[in-house]
Amino acid sequence: MTDIRSETVGPFQENCYLVVDPDARRAVLVDPGDEPERLLAMIARAGVPLDAIWLTHAHLDHVGAINAVRRVHPVPVWLHPADRPLYDRAAEVAAMYGLPFDQPEPPDRELAEGDRLTVGGLRFDVLHTPGHAPGHVVFLGHGLMLGGDLLFRGSVGRTDLPFSSGADMDASLARLGGLAPDTIVHPGHGPATTIGEELATNPFLNGTALPVRR
Ligand SMILES: [Zn+2]
Ligand SMILES: [Zn+2]
Repeated sequence: MTDIRSETVGPFQENCYLVVDPDARRAVLVDPGDEPERLLAMIARAGVPLDAIWLTHAHLDHVGAINAVRRVHPVPVWLHPADRPLYDRAAEVAAMYGLPFDQPEPPDRELAEGDRLTVGGLRFDVLHTPGHAPGHVVFLGHGLMLGGDLLFRGSVGRTDLPFSSGADMDASLARLGGLAPDTIVHPGHGPATTIGEELATNPFLNGTALPVRR
């Protein structure tokens, strides 16, 4: 069984997920973006050791609580290397927004397409899905996708940001058609959905999208 918990944090209302294997009693934290005290409380409530922090990408709203979480749980941080330019400049970008920000220490491990990550007895495949960010990945396994800012309910991640690529995004979104329709999507923002629901109704996936993405 997979136990997925979440907290929605910070001014960007980012979803941080705790993936728990209740049988093996292990957990990983995905995209600790802000409000570390709430994330630490979520980990404490789960009552299992934390093994790692996995990042879908390195925008500031997904990485801002890393340092504070690691002061309590000194676990490795996993990031695709193509997002290091974003990761390393997160504090700089936060300053442009006028937001307080705790620049995280460099990541410890590199993610790559085809990696298989484990938490307890759970296994998740890493898909490199660039577009919103060059090193964006999703974690896929056990009938669910931790999707970061690739796909939202009724929308997709922005591609008008520095280091974004609309062409890469189109290629990444096209891969979603190969997933099981009942795959539950846990996105970086907003409510959960399924691949089938989005393929049927999301204007960015069903061919009715306007030529210019927001
Ligand atoms: Zn993002
Ligand atoms: Zn985001």
